[in-house]
Amino acid sequence: MDKTILDKINRFTRRKLSEDEVYVFSVILCDNDIDRDCERFSDGALEALRQRFIGKTGIFDHDPSTVNQNARIFHTELITDEERKNACGEPYKYLKAMAYMVRTDENKNLIAEIDGGIKKEVSISCSAAKRICSVCGNDKNVTSCAHVKGRSYGGRLCHTVLDDITDAYEWSFVAVPAQVNAGVTKKYSEEDTVKAAVSCISEADDELRRDIRRLAYFAGGRAAADIASLSAAGLTTKQLIALRRSFEEQCGRGRAEVQLAPDAEETDPTEGFSMR
Ligand SMILES: [Zn+2]
Repeated sequence: MDKTILDKINRFTRRKLSEDEVYVFSVILCDNDIDRDCERFSDGALEALRQRFIGKTGIFDHDPSTVNQNARIFHTELITDEERKNACGEPYKYLKAMAYMVRTDENKNLIAEIDGGIKKEVSISCSAAKRICSVCGNDKNVTSCAHVKGRSYGGRLCHTVLDDITDAYEWSFVAVPAQVNAGVTKKYSEEDTVKAAVSCISEADDELRRDIRRLAYFAGGRAAADIASLSAAGLTTKQLIALRRSFEEQCGRGRAEVQLAPDAEETDPTEGFSMR
């Protein structure tokens, strides 16, 4: 074993381990291809994950006999395979990690399985503050758009691009039988995503509040706009989106009756207004 590998490992251990004590293996954590959830990581996301996964512990789940057995990533690298293209036609990029386990009697079988290539599926857990629609660039963490992932628009598959990684939590080996597309899955909790995205959201919230005011004006004039602004002040993003939607519906229904009579200092209330 390369001495630099052992040095890297020993940065994470309480005592210096010898070459015989550790088992080193590599995994592909994720890549830039569109996965079965019709999502993919942006290049920036892959680089952020590369940095954040160093030192992270991996677990072997779905198998009670592997409880308390874990591995730790001590090295990561982004690799571009120019020969292979992802579904977008870009060179295939993947995040490879090297991990180690301290050899014990208990993990002997597990190590044999990894060596035999049986445990192939890796799942990672992370937070993405942005989830961009590949068709229109809308951030789905903030607001919705009309595009449905998995559908084709102008011959291009609509998918979600995960971007702005704010945290990486853990990775796990999922014991699955060998399959054609054995590879990477990922999971993240929406709540984490939302929490981590607070700073990006405040700007988007302002935009939502402007939309709400505009729509309220559209529906009920200046007084309605003032009331809507007041009530929108303390709302969360989700509530803002819901409120905007209800105003959009109201405007959609009542548009014929709405009399547009903006007063002088009000900017055009329909400016930027669109039904989404
Ligand atoms: Zn879209």
